[in-house]
Amino acid sequence: DITALKELEERQSDFVANASHELGTPLTAIKGFAETLLDGALESPELSRKFVSIIHVESERMHRLVKDLLQLAKMNAAEYRSRIRVEPTSLQDTIEAVVRQLSGRAEEKSITLDIAFETANIVVEANLDWLNQIVTNLIDNAIKFTPNGGKVSVRCRIANNQAVIIVQDTGIGIPPHDLPFIFDRFYRVDRARARTAGGTGLGLAIVKFMVETLGGEINATSQMDIGTIFTVKLKQSGEI
Ligand code: ADP
Repeated sequence: DITALKELEERQSDFVANASHELGTPLTAIKGFAETLLDGALESPELSRKFVSIIHVESERMHRLVKDLLQLAKMNAAEYRSRIRVEPTSLQDTIEAVVRQLSGRAEEKSITLDIAFETANIVVEANLDWLNQIVTNLIDNAIKFTPNGGKVSVRCRIANNQAVIIVQDTGIGIPPHDLPFIFDRFYRVDRARARTAGGTGLGLAIVKFMVETLGGEINATSQMDIGTIFTVKLKQSGEI
């Protein structure tokens, strides 16, 4: 099928162009500030400190990007996917561990982070690392895009024989015309804002890929200035 092949090729070259652009931006900053330092700014301890810290921030950004890109590349390989162990995994243990990890970030912004297990002892068919990453990404985004003093709540229950995880925030929301694209690679609603927040725009693409590889689904609804709700459905597992 030539049309499908052409589309695939186009998608791939789009991806390479996007990835190069995303990596190029921090690299340009690093190069520029290093040159400014060598051109004389090194003489000033104050300027040196300022420029080196920018170089540090930008290199961390590149590091995150490369890590996310590698993960996407890995997941694309059938060989890697076949080696991923999918086994009965406790939803409560995983979510509690993630919430413990992120509670400091929520506290910094005076955000209340609530968890509720409306069905007890839910066990899902998942890989622990992936489940951890899915939940971490959603809660991390919820905290990131919610103003100080807001609320993030995580609820889990069984519905129609599926495990349902709901991550809801009282944040800035996502404009209706952006909502269909948020799971696309590199898509960010407000590039400048998401960039300062340190985002790569790859998080949700990775999350969606993982959820779907596990045989589940993910959806989002949002209202501007009211908040966003992400719903993940995963296969329930028999027993641990
Ligand atoms: P990023 O690394 O920028 O967080 P993601 O793929 O995780 O990338 O998210 C893509 C974009 O979706 C974000 O840049 C942001 O614009 C939007 N987004 C994701 N989660 C939320 C949320 N809870 N509230 C508002 N906007 C969100």
